[in-house]
Formats: sequence, structure tokens, C-alpha cells
Amino acid sequence: MVVIGAGIIGLAAAWWLQRLGHAVVLVDPAPHGPQPEGSGSSAALGVLMGEVFHRSSGRAWRLRQQSLRLWEQWRAELALAGQPVPHRPGLLLLAADAQELARLEALALSRQALGLAMELWQQPALEALRPALPHGALAGLFSPRDGQLDPLAAMAAFRHDGQTRGLELRADRVEALERRNDCWHVSLQGGAGLEAPWVLVAAGLASPALLAPLGHERPLEPVLGQAAELEIGPELAAAWPASVVWRGINLVPRPQRRLWLGATLEPGLSADPARWSALRQLEGAAPEWLAQARVQRHWQGLRARPAGRPAPLLEQLEPGLLLLSGHYRNGVLLAPASAAWAADVIATGNGSLTCR
Ligand SMILES: Cc1cc2nc3c(=O)[nH]c(=O)nc-3n(C[C@H](O)[C@H](O)[C@H](O)COP(=O)(O)OP(=O)(O)OC[C@H]3O[C@@H](n4cnc5c(N)ncnc54)[C@H](O)[C@@H]3O)c2cc1C
Repeated sequence: MVVIGAGIIGLAAAWWLQRLGHAVVLVDPAPHGPQPEGSGSSAALGVLMGEVFHRSSGRAWRLRQQSLRLWEQWRAELALAGQPVPHRPGLLLLAADAQELARLEALALSRQALGLAMELWQQPALEALRPALPHGALAGLFSPRDGQLDPLAAMAAFRHDGQTRGLELRADRVEALERRNDCWHVSLQGGAGLEAPWVLVAAGLASPALLAPLGHERPLEPVLGQAAELEIGPELAAAWPASVVWRGINLVPRPQRRLWLGATLEPGLSADPARWSALRQLEGAAPEWLAQARVQRHWQGLRARPAGRPAPLLEQLEPGLLLLSGHYRNGVLLAPASAAWAADVIATGNGSLTCR
């Protein structure tokens, strides 16, 4: 089978299918990385918001729950194979105003009713974390099962372990897909072609252009995100309990006294310097240390948001043709559940081509 796109979604699917015994070719102009500009995965912060989510039923909730479980299993498996994926458990959501506090309190109650551990941290608990926290935090919701992992390490782990299992990484760009003689024909920019009974389109924002000639309109809108790596003092690096979320902005502690800060939400393709400046100042709530922290790296990436449909797009479009795209803000979280969805569809054999 052929997987198109070596972002976190394509890599997770290719690794998982190869691990289940399928022969997989993964095609991307840069399958070994770094990803081309305008991709999402290499810009991601890796925050896994599985349980701090406003719903507690439905497809999105189930995908999130499944992904949290699978990430735990997959990380253990990859570590055994010598490909550890650094992970920090826990997320602390801070309430910046009374409305958000009420929302977090309601969320804590609904999760506790499901038997899920979530703690509301009042002022005394937060006091112990000052001055690391943004100004004005009223309370915090600590979710121990959520967390953060390193997306680049995860992608490298899928690549390396996949290759030891026989996964083929092909450096090329897919130009066109065509169904002929009960088989998918994949034309590559380099002139070669591939044939396969299953094709998985995981090309992020480029997916619609591959599908439109087949009559499948699945528009995706780009939403740019800016993020940065800051250098912080040793006392702050030690004070941090977990990744922190403040007004939708993530503060992610990293090794060697670094902190990731991000990300802006900017519809379109170009970065707005004013949004970067607001992010840098935590929208006016930046404590002194944050305002003074040195920026080591500032980057941007694009998320793919489905137009008029809920994220993500996980669909069988035709016999042997699967779409895994439009993961918008949660591609890192949802990569395992997306791969498992594809594996389930393929296992049923419904709509499989013969390629004879
Ligand atoms: C700043 C930022 C922060 C984020 N933070 C988080 C986070 O904390 N947690 C989280 O869960 N998500 C986060 N996300 C979202 C997440 O990054 C995306 O949902 C995810 O990366 C989508 O992965 P993907 O594999 O679908 O797409 P991409 O990573 O964009 O990969 C698409 C791949 O397809 C390839 N491709 C394109 N066209 C072709 C073609 N014709 N032939 C072959 N290959 C092709 C490209 O080269 C690329 O490698 C963040 C995103 C951004 C931008």
C-alpha cells in the first residue's frame, strides 16, 4: 500500500500498518525530514489535549481517548525498540477570568463523574508555583493523563523503527492518482509510478489538490501558527509542574532550560508580527522572567482546517482510497487513532482492490 505524506499522520499510519504486517511505501518529497515549509507536524508543540475537551461523548471524544491510550502503548513499544519518544505527563489549564474558571470547574466535575482524575488547584496550590505563572491566574485545572510529547522525536521514531520492519521511504512528490484495472496508479514527479490496492492520502494541506481530479472536493483552510523557544532560568525550569495552558497559549517546559511558547491562530498563509508580539507578551500577562527571556528560535507552521466539516477528515472515498487529513490543531494527539482507523478499514477488506 502507498501512504502519501510523511507528516506525523502519514508516518504514524505507515509505521502502524507496516508493524501489522503490510508492505508500505511512504512517499514524500522529504521523507527523512526536515519537512518542507508550510507543513504542520515539524512546527507542532506536541501538546496532547485528550481529556481537557469540552465534550465527553461522540466521535471526537472517542478519537481523543483512543489516541491517549495508543500513545502510551506506542511509546512503550518504540522505547523497547530503542526509539524513545520524550513525554511529559500532565497539563495545567489556568483560569484567566471568572468565565473560564466556571468552565474549568464544570469540566472537572464532568470528568470526575466519568471516573477520570482531574484536580482543581486553588490559590494555595498555585502560590507554590509563583513566580513561574502568568499574572492573574485565578485557579488551575490539572489533568494528569494529558501531557506533551516531542513531535520530531516521534516522527524520527516512526521512520527508524518502520524502516527496520521494512517500511520503504520514497523521496518524491505524488502528482496524480488514477484508478485503473481494479488498482490505484500513483504517478510520481520523478517520472516513476507505483501501483497499490490501497492508497492513503495524508498530505496535509496538499490533500485536496490530489483528490479534486477524482471528483472529491474536501477543501482545507490554512491556519498559521507562530511559536518560539525561549531560554529560561534554572529556578523556573525546576518550578514547572507540567505544560501550562493560558488563554489557549501553551507554555511547554523543555530540557536544558528551554520553554516552548505557542501558538498563534492566524487564518491564512502569512504571519502577522502583531500576533507574535501579543504571544510573546502572553497577551499582557507575561511575568517579568518571560518578558526578559531570550528567544532562541521563532518558527511558524500551517494547520489544515476542514471547511464546513468537523476535524479530522478520516474517510474512505472510494474502494482502496482513504483520506487522513484536516487534523487542524490536534494532529499530534490524533495520529495514533487516525492510523488505527485506517488499519481497521483495511482489515475489514471492504472496498479493497485486487491489482491483478
Ligand atoms: C504552530 C503549531 C503548533 C501545533 N501544536 C500542536 C499540538 O501541540 N498538539 C497537536 O496535537 N497538534 C498541534 N498542531 C497541529 C499539528 O501540527 C497538525 O494537525 C499535524 O501536524 C498535521 O499533520 P499532517 O501529517 O496531516 O500534515 P503535515 O505535517 O503538514 O504533513 C503533510 C506532508 O505531506 C507532504 N506532501 C504534500 N504534498 C505531497 C505530495 N503531492 N506528495 C507527497 N507528499 C506530499 C508534505 O511534504 C508533508 O510532509 C500544531 C500546529 C502548528 C502549526
